[in-house]
Amino acid sequence: KVIFTGICVAFLAVKWNAPKFDAESLKGARVLVTGASTGIGEQMAYHYARFGAQIVITARREKVLQQVVEKCLSLGAQKALYVAADMSSESEPAKVVDFALEKLGGLDYLVLNHIGPSPFSMWTGDVDHTKWLMSVNFFSYVQMAWKALASLEDSKGSLIIVSSLLGKMSSPFVAPYTSTKFALNGFFGSLQHELAMKKSNVSVSICTLGLIDTEAAMDKVKGVTKVPAYPATDAALNIIMTGATRQSDLFYPWFTYIAAASKDMFPSVTNYIIQNSYNYIP
Ligand code: NDP
Repeated sequence: KVIFTGICVAFLAVKWNAPKFDAESLKGARVLVTGASTGIGEQMAYHYARFGAQIVITARREKVLQQVVEKCLSLGAQKALYVAADMSSESEPAKVVDFALEKLGGLDYLVLNHIGPSPFSMWTGDVDHTKWLMSVNFFSYVQMAWKALASLEDSKGSLIIVSSLLGKMSSPFVAPYTSTKFALNGFFGSLQHELAMKKSNVSVSICTLGLIDTEAAMDKVKGVTKVPAYPATDAALNIIMTGATRQSDLFYPWFTYIAAASKDMFPSVTNYIIQNSYNYIP
């Protein structure tokens, strides 16, 4: 009880001291959002548009991107452009950043959010899929961050990494996916330290999300778990505010903070809860 109360108090103290979000700061901001054809990325594009930002969005499906761009313009984006790209390619991640730098004249925010599709099932030895997913969900993030870093340094900009509770706590049925999210947390956690030690202008925000009600996520967990799903539009807004206020972490919804903290403190209880939160009959 004492430890649980301590964790809650620590969380509330962090929230209480969080800097205030100023929506005006995003007017005209130059933003690149990946994985923005659907889900949380699409919702982030709409929020940035309402704040009057200049946006470049990317994903693979050109037609869908075109529709999202049109909606962004109708919502008030100062500029909205798309570039179709496959993040499993060696060269396309860097080309996307070059496109945004050229069209926007620099970047204030790089929001890395895309994920490749991955089955929700027990791992049966598909090594090639795990490698492929690593290239989409992890290596492309590293490439794009490096390519954008100099511009973000110039603009006192922010790098926003959309991660997951599954990047802090393993769970069944998602071995390849959870590996990519652990890799992101490790890499960008390290980068956070290095940039702070170099007194860099760039802030890095790592966003830990719980279950969010995107179509892709809901399709996977339908009938399998009773874990509550939170709205994508609200998750998207919280990610944007975290980046704009240059905070190092976001935990959304709030209890992901407690879940992440409790798995090291009470491993047996946490493992029991995780394994019993799915409808699975061997
Ligand atoms: P979606 O599956 O809805 O969207 C994924 C996006 O990535 C789409 O725009 C898709 O577009 C794009 N994409 C897929 N493959 C590629 C590829 N090879 N190259 C380029 N783009 C690609 O994901 P969510 O919105 O649900 O998730 C967004 C982020 O939030 C992810 O980082 C995810 O890990 C994180 N998150 C989500 C949770 C959830 O419950 N939804 C929970 C925890 C974290 P296209 O098909 O057109 O390429």
